[in-house]
Amino acid sequence: MSTLEVRDLHVTVDTGETGAKQILRGVDLTIRSGETHAIMGPNGSGKSTLAYSIAGHPKYTVTGGTVTLDGEDVLAMSVDERARAGLFLAMQYPVEVPGVSVSNFLRTAATAVRGQAPSLRTWVKEVREAMDRLGIDPAFAERNVNEGFSGGEKKRHEILQLELLKPKMAVLDETDSGLDIDALKVVSEGVNRVRATGETGVLLITHYTRILRYIQPDFVHVFVEGRVVEEGGKELADRLEAEGYERYVKKAS
Ligand code: ADP
Ligand code: MG
Ligand code: MG
Repeated sequence: MSTLEVRDLHVTVDTGETGAKQILRGVDLTIRSGETHAIMGPNGSGKSTLAYSIAGHPKYTVTGGTVTLDGEDVLAMSVDERARAGLFLAMQYPVEVPGVSVSNFLRTAATAVRGQAPSLRTWVKEVREAMDRLGIDPAFAERNVNEGFSGGEKKRHEILQLELLKPKMAVLDETDSGLDIDALKVVSEGVNRVRATGETGVLLITHYTRILRYIQPDFVHVFVEGRVVEEGGKELADRLEAEGYERYVKKAS
């Protein structure tokens, strides 16, 4: 049983020319293994900033609050240490990894997370089975990471990592606007399989409600202007689908 705790998190982003801008204004969240949480909010509300901050992206500066995983200070960890501690943050990986095949990338990641290289024979089998479940062509394993990947292939690769690395906590910034219905289903099925193990906590960040038809969250958090303004169960997602974010935006300002 693992717990990810975000307490009163304040974050600024380095905007370059205009300096630091306050984005997160006191975020509180508690996610336990086996639970699936959805963060939903309008564009520009800081959802990706939350994901990047948990991932340790250098552009984002934590100016207050804490993030802990089972009591350990996540914010004090390097990006690699976060992965070893059991955090899966899809966006921490580079957009393209020139010259590194999917197969080698996955093995390197698994070695880092597990603390030792998986035995080659079982590993090959594990990868093949996971790819099979996700409907990924075997030739995909020999392609270079993210090089010329379609939106759907990027997502499948993300879920492939998720299934193979078996993290304690997974933060998925869906950006599901770019997903066609097939990719959406594949992503959802993968997340639901990981979820069914009961060993991974999932934080699903999304602007749209449609992915929540396939992944039914246990908890929904409405995110507006850098903080959580409302919390509830999955019925809250239905309400957002019907009513939009407007009433929350008014409430926050
Ligand atoms: P969301 O994911 O909810 O759409 P973001 O976290 O991407 O929101 O962005 C929140 C706010 O922070 C926006 O106003 C955005 O323009 C700003 N922002 C985020 N990242 C950067 C950045 N790297 N440089 C400048 N502004 C940024
Ligand atoms: Mg956005
Ligand atoms: Mg975003």
